[in-house]
Amino acid sequence: MPQAKLKVVLIAHTPQPEKVVATAAKLCYSPANIDDLREKIAASDQKKFVEKLASLGHLSPIEHISFTFAVEGISRVCTHQLVRHRIASYSQQSQRYVSEHSQKHGGLFDFIIPPSIEAADKKEWFIDKMRQIQKWYDELVETLGDKGEETFQDARFILPNAAETKIILTMNARELLHFIRVRTCLRAQWEIRELAEEMLRGLLKVAPTVFGTSGPPCLSGPCPEGAMTCGKMEEVRHKFRQMHAGA
Ligand SMILES: Cc1cc2nc3c(=O)[nH]c(=O)nc-3n(C[C@H](O)[C@H](O)[C@H](O)COP(=O)(O)OP(=O)(O)OC[C@H]3O[C@@H](n4cnc5c(N)ncnc54)[C@H](O)[C@@H]3O)c2cc1C
Repeated sequence: MPQAKLKVVLIAHTPQPEKVVATAAKLCYSPANIDDLREKIAASDQKKFVEKLASLGHLSPIEHISFTFAVEGISRVCTHQLVRHRIASYSQQSQRYVSEHSQKHGGLFDFIIPPSIEAADKKEWFIDKMRQIQKWYDELVETLGDKGEETFQDARFILPNAAETKIILTMNARELLHFIRVRTCLRAQWEIRELAEEMLRGLLKVAPTVFGTSGPPCLSGPCPEGAMTCGKMEEVRHKFRQMHAGA
């Protein structure tokens, strides 16, 4: 089935992330030297220091820890929004070097079907349109002559935003808190919201204190959306509190 499903894997991160943050924080407020700091920073201190930073809004120490995610089953609609976040590094599967004539599904490329299209009972209709686009793509490749990237770079102009892609991204914790804040809000687009939520689930496993209150703005205060509010703050708060509690 060419319909792709979101997969988000936290493939790497700074070792002992919360110890690194706590050490950087303690350094700011302590006369001790670095060896003493590293030895003395007990696990109990780590939580205390990380929480203190958050309460003070002193966020530069959390820039020292980075997290790398591998993501697949995501549309180009979503990655276009993702890469607008500038304090990050990205490597994305190329439509220049990789042909969109998939060997897997009788030639049909992978794509994402929005839930609203499935809910409207238009899934088969949508897949039909993707098949048509595949035909046009294949025709273009044939017309231009299969010369690898020289051909694919132009044939891809006929492809839809729904085309599935794969991306590896690295962000530091400060940028992640910002990314999660703006992209888990119910006002964000559903696909990038799912991505941000999955990323948060992974982060809570390895840095539970740093990301312990991470979520949309309404989790820590009033909704900033004004007239455009979703009006579902209680539901959203409940969902993220459950997630933080590991439920
Ligand atoms: C619900 C929603 C709807 C959106 N709709 C649109 C839309 O219709 N059209 C559109 O074009 N975009 C849209 N965007 C994208 C949005 O405008 C931003 O480009 C995107 O969210 C990246 O976030 P950012 O700019 O806050 O920060 P990032 O790039 O993630 O950077 C993090 C922070 O660093 C600081 N920073 C980074 N770069 C600079 C800089 N050059 N100068 C000063 N400070 C900097 C800022 O404080 C910034 O918030 C939307 C985003 C959301 C969440």
